[in-house]
Amino acid sequence: MLKQLFLIFSILTLMPLSVQAEVSKKGPPLAAEYQADKITDAVYVIHGPVADPGVENQGFMNNPAFVLTDAGVVVIDPGSSVQTGEMVIQKIREVTDQPVVATFSSHIHGDHWLGNQAIRQVWPDAKLYGHPNLISLVEAGEGQTWIELMLRLTEGATRGTTVVAADIPINDGDSISIGGKTFAIHHIAKAHTTSDIMVHVVEDDVLFLGDNAMNARLGRIDDGSYKGLMSALNKAIEINSKYYVPGHGHTGGKEIAENFLLLISTIYEAVKIEYENDLTDYEIKPIVVKQLDQWKDWQGFEHGIGKFVSLAYIEVEEDAF
Ligand SMILES: [Zn+2]
Repeated sequence: MLKQLFLIFSILTLMPLSVQAEVSKKGPPLAAEYQADKITDAVYVIHGPVADPGVENQGFMNNPAFVLTDAGVVVIDPGSSVQTGEMVIQKIREVTDQPVVATFSSHIHGDHWLGNQAIRQVWPDAKLYGHPNLISLVEAGEGQTWIELMLRLTEGATRGTTVVAADIPINDGDSISIGGKTFAIHHIAKAHTTSDIMVHVVEDDVLFLGDNAMNARLGRIDDGSYKGLMSALNKAIEINSKYYVPGHGHTGGKEIAENFLLLISTIYEAVKIEYENDLTDYEIKPIVVKQLDQWKDWQGFEHGIGKFVSLAYIEVEEDAF
């Protein structure tokens, strides 16, 4: 008995120390091999796995990109952790010796920008651009929430990641010139989140959509708005760019934005009709799903579509008053 008690006591007192040691140790580099896909002579995209952040992908699942300019490299969305940021730097190094001079963060979700830390560790003077709402949300603690979420989802693989967020505000209509490239910024409304920017690299005619559009992945609209997202996507289509880079999934042409707009507007309009028929969101879901056959195989559809319908219902209801 005494022996057992001693054992329990030992475990209880020793555990916090070992957990602490584990937490302070940095997580391993990304195990899988990723490639940077050349979109134009100057623009590369590392297409991440179309999946939720988890143990298998060590949290990496967005589309980090980099743009070569005469003044150095500009990174768009350096990824979900210090480890992902380091992988991005490695991919840049395979193409150029130039330093990274700036990053753009497409929105507040940490899977897109926590990799800033790796950039700043190597290039302390790199300018980190983001929407003012991103900057204020990070000041309110949202960055730390994302650090903890990533640690939980990856079972600690992102250990060592700290909050290094955009600190230079940019907004709709801004145009940043870096080494002969023009980065035109578009922010339409609360769309995927309140802090989205779409970045158009004018000379290469590549539009970075952030999570305002995804390809083969449903994602989430929890922090966004249907009507705002539809406006943002209409703007993206109007820009009539040659290439469209979604926040997740493969790069393509204008059809990337058009297809996501069709998905979002189909959900919204179907919910609106059934709301007017006095159905509850629970009753509406199967009716809406029937109209979404072309997207039913997208990653996260089965798990996430109920929430999309509920949120559309809330938005339709708000608009009715
Ligand atoms: Zn997002």
